[in-house]
Amino acid sequence: MESDILVVEDEPAIRDMVCMALRQAGHPCRAAADVSQARSALADQRPQLMLLDWMLPGTSGLQFARELRRMEATRDLPIIMLTARDQEDDRIAGLDAGADDYLGKPFSTRELLARIDAVMRRARGYRRDERLQTGRLVMDLARHSCSVDGREINLAPTEFRLLRFFMTHPDRVFSRSQLLDNAWGNSVYVEERTVDVHVRRLRKQLEPFECDGYIQTVRGAGYRFSPEDAHG
Ligand code: CA
Repeated sequence: MESDILVVEDEPAIRDMVCMALRQAGHPCRAAADVSQARSALADQRPQLMLLDWMLPGTSGLQFARELRRMEATRDLPIIMLTARDQEDDRIAGLDAGADDYLGKPFSTRELLARIDAVMRRARGYRRDERLQTGRLVMDLARHSCSVDGREINLAPTEFRLLRFFMTHPDRVFSRSQLLDNAWGNSVYVEERTVDVHVRRLRKQLEPFECDGYIQTVRGAGYRFSPEDAHG
């Protein structure tokens, strides 16, 4: 049963503050002070989402996130990294490790709850919603089809998965290796430049519909999917 939020944080004051805020907002939660406690909590019951501190004694949150993404059972577990570091490099490393989002310390309760809601909405959407829409692009997951203004686009399976990932994670920069993990799955070995090839193909297919600008190259970082910048 996926019902609660697992808070993995070694600082008692922050852990207590976060748990209290979550409970007040109606989210049941469990707490773990390190990765080994988090592992047993996960084994007991899969949470709905995990808040994972970056700096933990022993195994770091970053290493743990990577580990969770490699395992079938936790591959799609929503993870928000809590970090005192707010450098762009660290954010990318966090997202690279498979975190869905990150929150820089100190953060407000309101910010925390807003991020949790957003990540949960995306996670639910990915599993259940049969229809995704971003701008003029529509994906019907049940029919495995994609269209713009009602006109069908025939996408190859990899482009379909890539677009589905982009549409469920808009407005965020993803590195090539993170796109590989998410859209290809890590059971296959693929070179990072393969991502560029598929992004190019996907853009080409979106071009006649003037939706190719939805996929933006972010120099030195990777790609972002955002309908807002499309014509900006
Ligand atoms: Ca810490």
